[in-house]
Amino acid sequence: MKSGSRLAIVPSQELLDQFLKRTLKTHPCWTWTGSTVRGYGVFVVDGHSLSAHRVAYALFIGSIPEDKDVLHRCDRGALGCVDPNHLFLGTQTDNNFDSYFKRRSKRKLTDEQIIAIREDPRPHSEIAQDFDIAYGTVGKIRRGVHWKHLGGIQQAKPKKLTPKQISVIRLDARPCRVIAREYAVSGTLVSLIKRELTYKEVA
Ligand SMILES: [Zn+2]
Repeated sequence: MKSGSRLAIVPSQELLDQFLKRTLKTHPCWTWTGSTVRGYGVFVVDGHSLSAHRVAYALFIGSIPEDKDVLHRCDRGALGCVDPNHLFLGTQTDNNFDSYFKRRSKRKLTDEQIIAIREDPRPHSEIAQDFDIAYGTVGKIRRGVHWKHLGGIQQAKPKKLTPKQISVIRLDARPCRVIAREYAVSGTLVSLIKRELTYKEVA
């Protein structure tokens, strides 16, 4: 990519609007519908070309350190994937085929997602589908067999949210932690719900 694609990206409501206008929230990947270079989405802002997936990362995950690249764990970057859920920070050497696949098989979920899975009161089958992981993996994550460093499931009785509550939470403009307190769930879960990264079946 040209040097412009590495410019620092400053998230804003306008950038988010522009991004969403060119993105279809399809499954298994969000799909970029704007211009592309070699299949990768390109976003033109103030005359500079930015990689669409870098914009996605900056908007939904966080800032990108200067020495890092934003890589796809889903292997569909060249098909226009701009799904923030599929992006991670790495260096170009991580793009090396071997290390890429090693990393991919070892780690597909973020810490944030692991925490949400542990709090999720729904049946394992629904959680597995939502996070695109194997049914058995859900049980291992919840028992703390996988991602030990984050501990195992702690809440004896996680709160079950109804589809109505999910819809209300998505429209709630207050900060995640305020909403979380009201529903007795974690801010992480609220954030995932609002970004439609979990409870995807609820419209
Ligand atoms: Zn993807």
